[in-house]
Amino acid sequence: MLLDHLQAKLDAIRAQDLTRFTRIAETGTAPHQTVRGADGVARELTMFCSNDYLGLAAHPAVTAALVEGAQVYGGGSGASPLVSGHSRAHHEVEALLGRWFEPHIPEAKAIGFCTGYMANLAVVTALGDADAEIISEALNHASLIDGTRLAKARVSRYAHCDVEDLRAQLGASSARIKLIVTDAVFSMDGDIAPLPALLQAAEDFDAWLIVDDAHGLGVLGETGVGTLEHFRLRSERLILVGTLGKAAGLAGAFVVAHRTVTDYLLQAARNYIFSTASPPAVEHALLTSLDLIRGEVGAQRRAALRALQARLRAGIGALLERHPTLTWTLADSQTPIQPLIVGGNAEVMALAAALEREGLRVPGIRPPTVPKGEARLRITLCATHSEADVDRLLAALEACA
Ligand SMILES: *Cc1c(COP(=O)(O)O)cnc(C)c1O
Repeated sequence: MLLDHLQAKLDAIRAQDLTRFTRIAETGTAPHQTVRGADGVARELTMFCSNDYLGLAAHPAVTAALVEGAQVYGGGSGASPLVSGHSRAHHEVEALLGRWFEPHIPEAKAIGFCTGYMANLAVVTALGDADAEIISEALNHASLIDGTRLAKARVSRYAHCDVEDLRAQLGASSARIKLIVTDAVFSMDGDIAPLPALLQAAEDFDAWLIVDDAHGLGVLGETGVGTLEHFRLRSERLILVGTLGKAAGLAGAFVVAHRTVTDYLLQAARNYIFSTASPPAVEHALLTSLDLIRGEVGAQRRAALRALQARLRAGIGALLERHPTLTWTLADSQTPIQPLIVGGNAEVMALAAALEREGLRVPGIRPPTVPKGEARLRITLCATHSEADVDRLLAALEACA
């Protein structure tokens, strides 16, 4: 019987202490949030877990644009993009993103999706046809992995950031179309993929480089265009996926590439064709948040973020020196994702619980999301954290050390 079958599986998950649950956020996305936990009690917590890196989700101009968009367009889009769901606002977001990426991708054109998960499935399944081989980075996001499972292409994997391994596999491939697929910033480690060397490999072996910049957009590069700007790359072999629910503070995603690639996605990507377009008010507000990213607000917030990263790293570095017997290690990350690797599952969950009692929410991440023995606190910083927020986290970690 289905219910017994599922209950047995739920019991097995609980027996391993791996049950997941949602909390209820009673207030908006911000570093200080009222959250109702599994015990039903609401608490004010300082959040070190959001991907709203620039704090734009709560920016008054973004909220005002969302209201204005709702007044102009109402609620939902009513249909998929090819039927009637593609509004003036959708069109303008795509055009703006095409202009953003023109310096990095010749003849750049963007196509919008409702989520990054959908955009990744679309690009990997539509391009990864029977003529292709996909060579996929070992630590890629689940949505890219799911794309490779659905694709008709042959799939192989290369070791994390291992360019030699990638080059060996490209050399061994006889596929007509070769697709390298990688995260730009790795979501559980915060490190940045060696994109210049990956692009060189793509050029040397006549391959294409699909880059998922979910955590780089808005954060990296002088004007927040992301990892391509950070490395000053330009090539028609680049196919970039960006998400708009993280640093852009709203929701949605896009693929930007040479126009032949995105023209083909519009014809072939099933989750573009058979899914309702995002609400036009969200697209209208994205025009504001994308302008903020590249303007003065974005520049100031990126600088604030870098200062907070440096403060946290210096503080944890000093803590580890004071406690030489601790087995914790701070991952080598130049991004707002600052993982503190603790080791055991029980240890990391006890540490996360102790921090939460102090009013600090820092999620513990366990296998299979990360390798066995590398359970970690995934600390993420937002530009709208204060120095005092970071200092409270450091003091609470000191008390647990
Ligand atoms: C969050 C994330 C996605 C999915 O984007 P959504 O818009 O949240 O669906 C894809 N790739 C990476 C690396 C991510 O971190």
